[in-house]
Amino acid sequence: MADHDAVIVGSGINSLACAALLARAGWDVCVLERSGHLGGAIQTAELTEPGFLHDVFSAWHPLWLGGVAHAELGDELAARGLEYLNTDYPTATLFPDGEAAFLLRSADANAEVLDRHAVGDGAAWRGMLDAFYPNADLAFGVLGTELWSKDGLAFGLKAYRRLGRRGLVEFTGDVLASSRDWLTSTFASERAHGLLAPWVLHTGLGPDAALSGFMTQVIAVAIQEGGMPIPRGGGARLVDALVQLIRDHGGTCETGRDVERILVRGGEATGVRLVDGETVTATKAVIANVTPTQLYGRLLEGEAPPAFRYGRSEMQIHFALSEPPRWEGDERLAQTAIVHLTPGLDGVSRAVNEAERGLLPAEATVVVGQPLTMDPSRAPDGQGLLWIQLQELPWHIKGDAAGELDTKDGTWTEELREHYADRIQGRIAAYVPNLESSVLNRVVLSPADLQAANINLHHGDPYSGSLALDQNLLWRPFPASPGHATPIKRLWQIGASTHPGPGLGAGSGTLVAKRLLEPPLFERIRKLR
Ligand SMILES: Cc1cc2nc3c(=O)[nH]c(=O)nc-3n(C[C@H](O)[C@H](O)[C@H](O)COP(=O)(O)OP(=O)(O)OC[C@H]3O[C@@H](n4cnc5c(N)ncnc54)[C@H](O)[C@@H]3O)c2cc1C
Repeated sequence: MADHDAVIVGSGINSLACAALLARAGWDVCVLERSGHLGGAIQTAELTEPGFLHDVFSAWHPLWLGGVAHAELGDELAARGLEYLNTDYPTATLFPDGEAAFLLRSADANAEVLDRHAVGDGAAWRGMLDAFYPNADLAFGVLGTELWSKDGLAFGLKAYRRLGRRGLVEFTGDVLASSRDWLTSTFASERAHGLLAPWVLHTGLGPDAALSGFMTQVIAVAIQEGGMPIPRGGGARLVDALVQLIRDHGGTCETGRDVERILVRGGEATGVRLVDGETVTATKAVIANVTPTQLYGRLLEGEAPPAFRYGRSEMQIHFALSEPPRWEGDERLAQTAIVHLTPGLDGVSRAVNEAERGLLPAEATVVVGQPLTMDPSRAPDGQGLLWIQLQELPWHIKGDAAGELDTKDGTWTEELREHYADRIQGRIAAYVPNLESSVLNRVVLSPADLQAANINLHHGDPYSGSLALDQNLLWRPFPASPGHATPIKRLWQIGASTHPGPGLGAGSGTLVAKRLLEPPLFERIRKLR
């Protein structure tokens, strides 16, 4: 007799959502995690000083709250103690001259603030919303549908029926536009461009890439409608609630369990073998939350790893401060969840281009996250905490675009990590004069540290694979094997490397759970009769 109905390799958000959906439906599920903590890129820890709760990797949950898994599981997770906090000031960009541009929580408010930067940009914002909303189900549907399946076909037909042939061609063309082209043809003000352009980094793209214009619009609408929610007490509270839900339905979640082989008999996955030799078997499914590199290069015997590309690398900087950061200029910056520091659209473009050419950017786009604006419980009273993200870094370093740092053999040494973090700290300090005097502790995670912490963050790529068009949407994880089914029967691949890609929406885990819970074909035909 097999040990479980389903074995899930890895405990990222996609695994936990998938396991929770299956367990609620009566499946006996087992999640096996190689590291010492559950949740993958969600971890909350006192990383710097006692009493300072840092979200070590991911921090912001709009994708989770906007996703199908949350719609299904939200009430049961709330009953297990999960509580979300939100803000009226989700994001802003602070420009070098000290002026800031804000994205707020209603169409009226955004039209008003954008009009102040350039008369007419408010109307352009409303025009974007008027064009977006009637087809919002299609825009979000692209990201929530198993594209290589009958559901994908049905989705295509729905779009065709609604838009017609010409309309569908136009819609698809718009989806492919770059952020630069969409921003510059929509808004007159460079402030509007600089407000929205940094958000394409959070989709793994750059502002000149195909698709990035569509992603900019999706994110802009999602932030206006959904804000920048975070769980009270840290991202790990979402993991705790999901794990509790799985266990309450009889499932198991185990740490320190490194899967080294997927067991296959007669072309079907039957279970997994751990590094200590133990086997865990499954009758219905083996679900692997891993990169294609690991799936084909390690877990499946005799397979060659595919030509799967990784994206830019990333760095995280965590600060514990003896007092809250005091921003110069606009007082709303102190209340804003995520502040981007950049010269604007061209600044983001330049830093992306430098990173993609192997250089440390001279003027990186600095993502300054301020979770205390919503959740003061994450630091001792009267103190400060910052979550800093840098998404424009190379894995193999050829040099420094600023010509300042010695990049030696081109690897991420501790010395280089700290020197680069010093540059970024200086950038922030130019707008937050009390930063350097109030640092109690600083912990920096280089791309090498990210890879060491989570095997899925290969080369320090936070999104587990390049999201360039040929590895995105219909072609994710890679054109020769798109979707979540694999060449092995009963073996499914989920996680950020698969459609709909990275983020806390749990899209791939949800799609696979739904597919597995579909009634068998004969039952569906019987019901139709
Ligand atoms: C620094 C950082 C910041 C981010 N910020 C945000 C954010 O604010 N908001 C947002 O929406 N997204 C954010 N993202 C992206 C998002 O966090 C990830 O895309 C998402 O969490 C990935 O989830 P996953 O299910 O693919 O698995 P992962 O979180 O990658 O977890 C996979 C797990 O599987 C385990 N595993 C792998 N192989 C094996 C094996 N053979 N045996 C056993 N276990 C194995 C790994 O140890 C890991 O724990 C961020 C990502 C990073 C890295």
